[in-house]
Amino acid sequence: MEIAANDPSLKSWVEIPVDSDFPIQNLPFGIFKENGKKRAGVAIGDKVLDLSALQEYGLLNDLSLPNKVFDQEVLNGFLHLGKPTGRKVRNRVSELLQENNDELRSHYALGSILFDQSKVKMCMPVQIGDYTDFYSSEQHAFNVGCMFRDPKNALMPNWKHIPVGYHGRASSIIESGIPIHRPKGQQKPNDEEPAVFGPCKLLDFELETAFITCGENGLGEAIPVEKAEDHIFGMVLFNDWSARDIQKWEYVPLGPFLAKNFASCISPWIVTLDALEPFRIEGPKQDPPVLPYLQYEGEKHFDIELEVAIKPEGSEEKVVGHSNFKYMYWNMAQQLAHQTVNGCNIRTGDMYGSGTISGPESSQFGSMLEISWKGTKPVSMPDGSERKFILDGDTVIMRGHAKHNGLRIGFGEVSTKILPAK
Ligand code: MN
Repeated sequence: MEIAANDPSLKSWVEIPVDSDFPIQNLPFGIFKENGKKRAGVAIGDKVLDLSALQEYGLLNDLSLPNKVFDQEVLNGFLHLGKPTGRKVRNRVSELLQENNDELRSHYALGSILFDQSKVKMCMPVQIGDYTDFYSSEQHAFNVGCMFRDPKNALMPNWKHIPVGYHGRASSIIESGIPIHRPKGQQKPNDEEPAVFGPCKLLDFELETAFITCGENGLGEAIPVEKAEDHIFGMVLFNDWSARDIQKWEYVPLGPFLAKNFASCISPWIVTLDALEPFRIEGPKQDPPVLPYLQYEGEKHFDIELEVAIKPEGSEEKVVGHSNFKYMYWNMAQQLAHQTVNGCNIRTGDMYGSGTISGPESSQFGSMLEISWKGTKPVSMPDGSERKFILDGDTVIMRGHAKHNGLRIGFGEVSTKILPAK
């Protein structure tokens, strides 16, 4: 499929800094707040372009959009129009920003349409109705299996047959930049002694991405794997915080609960699957073969570099892991086909986490549980301190971008500071 806005030769009249995550070929959607008002925007270089103003000025008139669809506090209404409409809007915004186009540049007061990203506040881009967290990186599942069970049987017998997941909590998904308090809960540090209650001692990040859906299948209707991407509008970076000590005590027999629902953080820009088209790659060979409803054709994995850094209070940051979205065993289309195969209905604005994404090398692990190997291999920080898990005052920053032949499509970052327990 040819998407006009993806043409790598396009240049914008907006100045794009070298190595920007947001060249004219990206144009991710988000919600920003400026002068006290939230509305929809598109990132271009260091700027935000106000979509509600474009519509008000009649610059999106040929796209049959509902009135004031961008003059909203979330993108759900826009996403609900579906991917073809999203594609039309992105192509039109691309036209308006191209260097040889002066419809916008020469006829409007740019000060009220184009804002510095540093001067606006980025907000939650969607109201998330439901949230699923998968567990789809083989290396991550293998590492956890080695630590808590047996290296010889590290993967559970179901793992290569089912994209394993659980239903998470949507209410505590927050945008980048909001500090969170260390969670408290029950732990059982010693097998011989009773459980205790207190602040989590093994606070961890999970380096993930997440996709956001558009459109509905309807209760009882499965989405086949070859149609799944029609419902995947775009992706964000996702830090799925985990309280490892609380998790270890509580998870039997029903799985993740309070160790996982105190906060999960996303980057504010939804990078469209359209913008990521040039970065499709083949996935790993799935052996044993998967059941027919999970079999797919073509390239459904994406080459997206990911990194995670820890910044101790008052110190420089240190990158503690480099990974890549291509290390997923199960791709997003398979995850969504599996999610709906029983007739579960998805809705616009649902979010689906990838699961911690770890690569094969120890420098590519996506959680402190793996990086410090259960606390046995502490990581040294620029200020001389050590980390096994995350301490109060630390900020965890995740970044991601795809890069190929000089084209860079980035996500920006998700950054969260940990405050002491309340
Ligand atoms: Mn997770």
